Amino acid sequence: MVNDCFIGLGSNLGNPETQLRFAVDQLAALSSTHILDVSPLFRTTPVGPQDQPEFLNAAVHIQTTLSAHALLAAIQEIEKAAGRTPTRHWGERMLDLDILSYGDDIIHTADLIVPHAHIGERAFVLVPLHAIAPHLVLADGRSIEALYRTCNKDGVWYHSKADWRPAP
Ligand code: AMP
Repeated sequence: MVNDCFIGLGSNLGNPETQLRFAVDQLAALSSTHILDVSPLFRTTPVGPQDQPEFLNAAVHIQTTLSAHALLAAIQEIEKAAGRTPTRHWGERMLDLDILSYGDDIIHTADLIVPHAHIGERAFVLVPLHAIAPHLVLADGRSIEALYRTCNKDGVWYHSKADWRPAP
């Protein structure tokens, strides 16, 4: 079964733009997975410890036949391949990939919560997601448009187009 999914990307170490491009290339290389769209890149103020660089964030729309847990394992491999090492909570990272939504599934397991737990209140997730999926309604019924309108967008700035967006 083909599932429509949205993945959130973030990086604030190394060269964040290079890390995000790497993430999209790696997602595109996953088996039975296609990239449908990549949002613009946004500069965002860190949430949590403030003594760390700004983040670059983006969102990617994919179609995949991977199961949600296989997709989680795959994105964790991509984070590792980017050189991510454990850091403090909400701390700096080479690459952070999150499954924001996975088809119409609602998942609550020890290692995976979908729709992602922080979609509703985090502008660094919502602003890129809204840029490519303004009409998306999450599996729990929440509309991205409504969440976007009410979220506090302080600390989120448009950075650039992802001009390395792969062809669909
Ligand atoms: P983070 O530090 O944001 O990369 O969080 C990683 C942890 O969140 C991992 O242990 C995952 O198992 C867990 N997790 C729970 N839900 C999700 C999700 N929707 N996408 C990615 N990681 C998730």
